[in-house]
Amino acid sequence: MTDPRPGAALSEGGSLCAACAHTRVVTSAKGASFVLCGLSRTDGRFAKYPRLPVLACVGFEKLEEPRGAQGHQR
Ligand code: SF4
Repeated sequence: MTDPRPGAALSEGGSLCAACAHTRVVTSAKGASFVLCGLSRTDGRFAKYPRLPVLACVGFEKLEEPRGAQGHQR
């Protein structure tokens, strides 16, 4: 199960993952949240669950919209 909202994992020490388009937040059945790197599916250089905080990353792509803004309706 994925949760697009910023979770506790994303607030980890100013990690680049918090603003990266490849980030997915996965929430376990026990409620713990983990950052999953989407690039890990196609590129072996990237860990599925990167060790946070990630301070430098060649795969970083800045999100166009702030996380959580998608789907906002008035
Ligand atoms: S590409 Fe780098 S910054 Fe982006 S989610 Fe993966 S590890 Fe984090």
